[in-house]
Amino acid sequence: MKVLKFGGTSVGSSSSIKEVAKLVNNNEVNFVVLSAMTGTTNELVSISDCLNNKDQQAANAKIEKLECNYYDVVNALYSTNAFLEKGRELIACHFDYIKSFTQDMFTLYEEKAILAQGELISTALFHFFLQEQNIPSVLVSALNFMRIDKQNEPDTFYIRENLNREMKANPGVKIYITQGFICRNAFGEIDNLKRGGSDYSASIIGQALNAEEIQIWTDIDGMHNNDPRMVENTKPLAQLSFDEAAELAYFGAKILHPSSILPAKIANIPVRLKNTMAPSAEGTLISSEVVGEGIKAIAAKDEITAIKIKSDRMLLAHGFLRKVFEIFETYKTSIDMITTSEVAVSVTIDDIRHLPQIVDELKHYGMVEVDTELSIISIVGNFLNESKGFAFQIFDSLQNIPVRMISYGGSHHNVSVLVNTSDKKEALNAIHNKVF
Ligand code: ADP
Ligand code: ASP
Ligand code: MG
Repeated sequence: MKVLKFGGTSVGSSSSIKEVAKLVNNNEVNFVVLSAMTGTTNELVSISDCLNNKDQQAANAKIEKLECNYYDVVNALYSTNAFLEKGRELIACHFDYIKSFTQDMFTLYEEKAILAQGELISTALFHFFLQEQNIPSVLVSALNFMRIDKQNEPDTFYIRENLNREMKANPGVKIYITQGFICRNAFGEIDNLKRGGSDYSASIIGQALNAEEIQIWTDIDGMHNNDPRMVENTKPLAQLSFDEAAELAYFGAKILHPSSILPAKIANIPVRLKNTMAPSAEGTLISSEVVGEGIKAIAAKDEITAIKIKSDRMLLAHGFLRKVFEIFETYKTSIDMITTSEVAVSVTIDDIRHLPQIVDELKHYGMVEVDTELSIISIVGNFLNESKGFAFQIFDSLQNIPVRMISYGGSHHNVSVLVNTSDKKEALNAIHNKVF
């Protein structure tokens, strides 16, 4: 069995939904994971924001507009009166639900319930389309098996048990369909796997089903060697190892959710990135194999904050770093980059929810400085032979760009530099032109 995930643009119009139907109806057993239609989750976030800000009027206007767009999709997608009717009823039902939330009782729970509607609608529309085409399929609700625990980590045992139960209840089917992104939390409430989380859903499902392959279908022909939104003439990579792909995903390559490689790596299931708009393009194969040497790709992660703790007295005292790290641990804030000197240590974080408390506690150990609006640029590849001058090429290319931190040697797969976000584009291009 293969898991096939289709992102927002892949199901973004009636014609692309029809293309997806062709791709999944290939006589193999496929577990199909769908995102919401492109733009929907952003709109649902914006509707929730309006309700949060007690602006019911603006929320209503946005809800109405989104609902109208969906009637257009229904009208273009189905050809029989029966399914046109079913599609309209479905849209009305989901939008009545969205309209039932008012500003008076709006909490985080309601927001998550609203965000879930995008994937619930896209999968139901797709299932109806297959039914209209007489292609047998089963719609399995992710809310019946996808669950995160109190630490917001996938509850792998629960997911495996419940997913297998759902599959056993529907034997002999070739096409299973489910929602990406949405799940339940430890309290049974509707929740989600964070923005872009459908990739993560697909790999969690792949691991739970021990799939033969996980395919991520999107709007580009695989992982490129740099961010195509920032750099011209980027090229797709035919092959990456799990570790290389995980570094790129974690450090900003938007094509993959940051956590989506780990479940595949644990279960040793190859991940193939494919282009829905050009299915015959080779794409990228991500597997346990490490192929080639040197720099393979560059990515950037924004909204990084750097914290410097400076202390003449304590830095070299043993136990100092442990105390510093314990503060971050207390606030469940993970650190991305670390550099130390004799009198100071600098770290970067991307989750600033507890920054004020962290800074207050760090002040017991020295002077604390905070810098914001930074980006980590990660250069990823296979640096087994350090003598080959990879570091020189990278730093030489950055001679005109102020660099705040450098991390080299932490692994054989990653060199990271921290720059001001305003310099990010120039840095990505400078490194690209030098190393490729
Ligand atoms: P989907 O909706 O299918 O999940 P995403 O928008 O989340 O699609 O991811 C695909 C996009 O990721 C591409 O259109 C591209 O602009 C962006 N992207 C960023 N970095 C890379 C990269 N290194 N390789 C390929 N695409 C990338
Ligand atoms: N629809 C969700 C989002 O836009 C999940 C996803 O597309 O992967 O973030
Ligand atoms: Mg995505």
